Amino acid sequence: MVDVRDRTYEAIVLRARDWREQDRLLTLVSLEKGPETAIARGAKKPGSKLAACAQPFCRATVTLSPAKGGVSFLKEGRQEESYLPPGGDVERFAYLSYFSELLLAGWPENRPEPGLFALARAAFLMIKLDDQLSRTARFFELRFLDQLGLLPDLSCCAACGQSPASADPRRFLLSPQKGQLLCAACAEVADATSGVSSGNSLRNGLPLLSPGALRYMTTLREAPFSKVSRLRLSPALDREIEQALDPYLSYHLDYAGKAKAVLKELL
Ligand SMILES: [Zn+2]
Repeated sequence: MVDVRDRTYEAIVLRARDWREQDRLLTLVSLEKGPETAIARGAKKPGSKLAACAQPFCRATVTLSPAKGGVSFLKEGRQEESYLPPGGDVERFAYLSYFSELLLAGWPENRPEPGLFALARAAFLMIKLDDQLSRTARFFELRFLDQLGLLPDLSCCAACGQSPASADPRRFLLSPQKGQLLCAACAEVADATSGVSSGNSLRNGLPLLSPGALRYMTTLREAPFSKVSRLRLSPALDREIEQALDPYLSYHLDYAGKAKAVLKELL
């Protein structure tokens, strides 16, 4: 039955799991609402019209009932595009699971965030269409942190102003606690003056970033979405950037890292 309060829009399905006998429980994100939860009644039944859009990692036009107790019902749904190739792809599935986990860790329910929606759409499409999956992951991590206002200035050391572009071959670290980029020398000075034990020093366990990695991060942070798929990332720089972002993401976002663990095992 049509209800004037029904809402129709485009959404990306980030999660879908079985619910009760015949239903599916979906986590969607949309430009209009941000993340939300919806039940697709009967989507598990053979021949259900909702089955195609009750799959994770697709873009769909959905009609949702007004939410009750935080949950809406999917009244109609049409899958527009799947971000996975036909027959599936384990590696792509793992990357999309990882992106979804991050999105839901940093993006509160029912809060429209046009920038985050555009980023999710672009990153999902890149995973589908191009082969540099890990470069897309670094792009997504950086832009996601940037959108949330968590990524510091990467153009110079926050303490001494040293730039990665200068002739001095200094290395840098991204400090999760300080939320700053520091050169290795300033991180050491900060540790010495605050008198911390080595167990909780700024340098403790943090990988250092080369000027080249930092310049690449700035490019990924600033390039228009359409240019990112043309950028090549060497395995060595990829590893450097990943190792610097990993502790930063875990420190700032409350997420279990389940999908990231699966991804690491896979690769
Ligand atoms: Zn410095």
